[in-house]
Amino acid sequence: MPTLTGSCFCRNVEYELKLASNDDARTSLCHCRNCKKAFGTNYGLTAKVPKEAFNLTKGAPKEHVADNGSGALIYREFCQNCGSFILEYGDAAKDHFRYICVGSLDDPEALPPKGEFFCKARASWMPEIPNVFHKQEVHE
Ligand SMILES: [Zn+2]
Ligand SMILES: [Zn+2]
Repeated sequence: MPTLTGSCFCRNVEYELKLASNDDARTSLCHCRNCKKAFGTNYGLTAKVPKEAFNLTKGAPKEHVADNGSGALIYREFCQNCGSFILEYGDAAKDHFRYICVGSLDDPEALPPKGEFFCKARASWMPEIPNVFHKQEVHE
């Protein structure tokens, strides 16, 4: 069983991901406006993992909860000290999945992307990722 580790920038928050296989994580880019704002760059990059796979091993992130603009709540967790974005999940996925910010993994190449969401909002200068799925809308 592969165990991946991750942390925020200052390492006050650390976590482990225990996956039956790295293939159980679904990494995707999302080009929607919410992800641009939340990640502070032109797309969001998260790995969807089963909720039980994620375990905090150090620290207590700050939680931010907000309407995502379509009436559904979205939960985001950050380091209270350095502000690194650790994970997010929507109301519908709350009991089943966590979406881990891929750049917080200690090996950020461990979980390469399988697809892209909200391609209609892709930055005009950003090329498509080859050989992955592409959806014009949908953020899940
Ligand atoms: Zn930190
Ligand atoms: Zn998005």
